[in-house]
Amino acid sequence: MGKTIAIANQKGGVAKTTTAVNLGAWLSLMGQKVLLVDIDPQGNATTGVGVDKNEVERCIYDVMINGLTLQEVIVPSAVENLDLVPATIELAGAEIELVGRAERESTLKKALAEIKDKYDYIFIDCPPSLGLLTINALTAADSLIIPIQCEYYALEGLGQLLNTFHMVQQNLNENLVLEGVLLTMFDGRTNLSIQVVDEVKKHFKGKVYGAIVPRNVRLSEAPSHGKPVMVYDRRSRGSEVYYQLAKEVMGIE
Ligand code: ADP
Ligand code: MG
Repeated sequence: MGKTIAIANQKGGVAKTTTAVNLGAWLSLMGQKVLLVDIDPQGNATTGVGVDKNEVERCIYDVMINGLTLQEVIVPSAVENLDLVPATIELAGAEIELVGRAERESTLKKALAEIKDKYDYIFIDCPPSLGLLTINALTAADSLIIPIQCEYYALEGLGQLLNTFHMVQQNLNENLVLEGVLLTMFDGRTNLSIQVVDEVKKHFKGKVYGAIVPRNVRLSEAPSHGKPVMVYDRRSRGSEVYYQLAKEVMGIE
């Protein structure tokens, strides 16, 4: 049975999408069957694995709001073994449309239940908010990965994210656990980056991945080519570190 992992942090630009795309792609290249579920109306994960948003006919919105099954919406990505549930800007309306519904927090969970056993890993790329879309992801997930950017104010807002996590644990999904914390955009030349690593490790004892993602130009270029980084430049540092992370997530290192 597949393991479902939400990648969330209500801050934008902390590398949620970069992590969902590259971790998912590495696991698929390692022979795992992976599904990437894009639930950000910006659809960056969709573009990031080589799917043109303009050509998407049905997206996660149709599942969450119009009652389509995930099977009707899943498309192959540019990477072998990696399937995608695309998102388009249409999803921006879902947050409000869900509010009045009885199963507003568990729509995604219900949809995933039907296809969960077809995959080894399912990654949910969350939008930069703690609204109903992210709550749906946490309700559907077995665990959460939190990417944290090695910047000033790195820990700011994490309290709210953890409150939401505990709220979901208590009311909607008692099995939800913290999978791990991923430090991103590390710059070893700055004391600040080093301080943030220390602080985050103190705060999340034993939960921080050994793989720390450095600032890497290849990682920021790859999405504009619609490719995960290891397809774009396999030997880049960004590619190597996400490989390291994939091994940690699989528990083989
Ligand atoms: P989020 O999904 O949390 O908003 P993204 O994954 O879209 O964040 O990353 C924000 C921006 O930073 C993107 O342009 C992305 O390409 C870039 N980026 C992400 N990780 C790195 C990195 N390690 N080094 C350089 N640029 C990065
Ligand atoms: Mg994103």
